[in-house]
Amino acid sequence: MTRKYEPLTATEAAKYRTRVTLLGTAGGPPWWDGSDRNGISTAVTVNGQVYLIDCGEGWGPQFRKSGLGPAGFQKGLDNLRAVFITHHHSDHMVDYPNLLLLAWHNGSDGLKQPIQIHGPGDRGVLPPIFDEDKREHLPEVFHPKSPTPGLVESSEKLLQAYALDINDRMRDNAKQDLREIFQFHDIELPAGTGDDPNGNPTPAMDPFEIYRDENVRITAILVDHRPIFPAFAFRFDTPDGAIVISGDTGVCQNLVTIAEGADLLLHECIDLDWVDGLLGPDSPKPDPNLMQHMLAAHTAIEQVGPQAEKAGVNTLVLTHLVPGNTPVEKWQKAQVGFSGNLVVGEDLMHFGLGEPQG
Ligand SMILES: [Zn+2]
Repeated sequence: MTRKYEPLTATEAAKYRTRVTLLGTAGGPPWWDGSDRNGISTAVTVNGQVYLIDCGEGWGPQFRKSGLGPAGFQKGLDNLRAVFITHHHSDHMVDYPNLLLLAWHNGSDGLKQPIQIHGPGDRGVLPPIFDEDKREHLPEVFHPKSPTPGLVESSEKLLQAYALDINDRMRDNAKQDLREIFQFHDIELPAGTGDDPNGNPTPAMDPFEIYRDENVRITAILVDHRPIFPAFAFRFDTPDGAIVISGDTGVCQNLVTIAEGADLLLHECIDLDWVDGLLGPDSPKPDPNLMQHMLAAHTAIEQVGPQAEKAGVNTLVLTHLVPGNTPVEKWQKAQVGFSGNLVVGEDLMHFGLGEPQG
């Protein structure tokens, strides 16, 4: 095995051509008591070009603090090359509008090439109603004309909601047309794969390419985060090594497939005791069905090590921690069943791949 990947300071990480920065490491929409973790977001940097994965709450201010922008320039989105959204849960998307609306004030005006944004396409069909038989009132469909939009449609509608600001700044401040700054893409599933959003389990498949440039080749695979569909894990193959980001997922073979032999696996994790306290037999509102439902969509501390072991990854980095206020010592139990290197992620933790330059 090559060296272990240990967290670096921003200054140390800046010596590496390929680096990974955890911008935010909390999962879930709640504001966790006693935790200062920001919402889930990660940056991969190769050759000074930044690739952003998910836009959880606070990613923007965290990006400023991360030192990823060019030296001496405190805004820094001029190096942002592409953005990838794992799935359309609010905790991964809530600060996405910030990117669309603030980028042109923070480095992305006058770009030579548009920022490419890739995310899951339209789900196509509504998910089933959980515990339908037990519900007194069934929910009315929200926005029935398009109840399950994908990345392209969501992005266009977000921009429409801010048309006044956008028109004002293009007319009054001669800002570049946002349609030249961003290009939106729905990630298309390969033909014949996973085309039943309400089917279970997620079908086994091979990773498929969604993006490639001179720095990086990015592949995706479906992971198990029912009823959200599609939900993806991403793999970044760079000249200095491979980085895999699990997105949100229960234990699933596809994650092992895409993570095989990766240098860094950034994996989500959930604390079962927290779920138990919320819904378990001794909780104020016991609900074994809902508990099972939540557990199927996430990977517990006890389950993540064996997944990383099967994939044979060098270093497992826990992120998207639910709840955000579980102590680090408890997350460290994820080492059980994993013979590689475990790091419990913290906001603004950096990793360098390959050898330091210069
Ligand atoms: Zn999710």
